[in-house]
Amino acid sequence: MKNEKNDEIIEQELELQEEQTQEEITQEKETQEETTPEEETTINEEDVEIKNPEKEKVGIIDLPGVGAATAEKLESVGYRDLMSVAVATPAELVDASGMSAAVAKRMIAAARASLDMDFKSGDEVLKIRETVEKISTGSDSFNELVGGGFETGAITECFGEFGSGKTQIGHILAINAQKLDENAVVVYIDTENTFRPERIQQLAEGAGLDPTKVLKNIKVARAYNSDHQMLMAEKVEELVTKQNLPVKVVVVDSLTAHFRAEFIGRGTLAERQQKLNRHMHVLLKLADLHNICVYVTNQVMAKPDMFFGDPTQAIGGHVVAHASTFRIYLRKGKKGSRVAKLIDAPNMPDGECNFYVETGGLKDV
Ligand code: ATP
Ligand code: MG
Repeated sequence: MKNEKNDEIIEQELELQEEQTQEEITQEKETQEETTPEEETTINEEDVEIKNPEKEKVGIIDLPGVGAATAEKLESVGYRDLMSVAVATPAELVDASGMSAAVAKRMIAAARASLDMDFKSGDEVLKIRETVEKISTGSDSFNELVGGGFETGAITECFGEFGSGKTQIGHILAINAQKLDENAVVVYIDTENTFRPERIQQLAEGAGLDPTKVLKNIKVARAYNSDHQMLMAEKVEELVTKQNLPVKVVVVDSLTAHFRAEFIGRGTLAERQQKLNRHMHVLLKLADLHNICVYVTNQVMAKPDMFFGDPTQAIGGHVVAHASTFRIYLRKGKKGSRVAKLIDAPNMPDGECNFYVETGGLKDV
């Protein structure tokens, strides 16, 4: 049964790849036509101006150097509005569509010029902050620790040893997002095969929600390797922009397990960190552009040279540490309780709290 399912997924992917190569061939012809006349690296003002700035709905197709095929190609990989192009790097666009770096630079400049990307005053930022929602953990003391709940528009990372409650928190967020808004959609990228619909049912009942409805609003993606995981994260954008789903939470459980397993040895570290960095940026963009609460779990490794304090360290190094807005260290406490320690947050003091993982959800000690 499971094998059949795997085969199905693999086949679907193969089909997709074939389609893409076909597209690439036509695409290559297109870009050649588009770019050969004036292949320049300098960007002059006229190029940057978009064709019809007055028009209300300006799209990617209106950017300089973008033909129908390029627009379609970009759209197919998730560049659906000007903002997504404006915040992209030239290399990303080159990767996505095979266009030349010069064209990519010009496109990005034009997209930036057409959007309101100026500085915002502090009070404007405060207004934007008012759109931030806090998703409850179910435990008052845990909520207090993180300023009311896990924030939308940010990445929250929990790291800790096995059984410390990282996956449980992922499940609980999936429930509580729907408690906040019954139509909220939760995306669960499951890399370790630990998503359990039965557990969701239990927790939904504990929260007084209809388990069937809650399960319907959770989109689960099983990721089989790090590339697959990155692809699934990129696809979330489509759920929001193409299918108009009100995605409120994205869980990546575990963020680092595949990366850790696939890149072994010192020589591969740089490549792993680069990939991880790209992945974190995709997640950050999701959080930022669509006001989504991104929750990632991370493992720890033993720090052999540590003599005092806790000899464990999160995987992923600075890349994960810097990209996460909130970092929480989870460990097992006394009498089956769990301890959460906030170690990095933009506007909250570091601190600790205790809670229990119970059948119905998290409970205060
Ligand atoms: P790993 O690193 O292995 O993924 P984790 O941090 O994700 O670990 P969890 O799976 O979140 O760990 O936590 C497992 C623990 O949660 C169990 O040991 C148990 O204490 C608790 N737990 C799980 N399900 C229930 C339940 N239905 N009722 C009560 N407690 C539960
Ligand atoms: Mg887990």
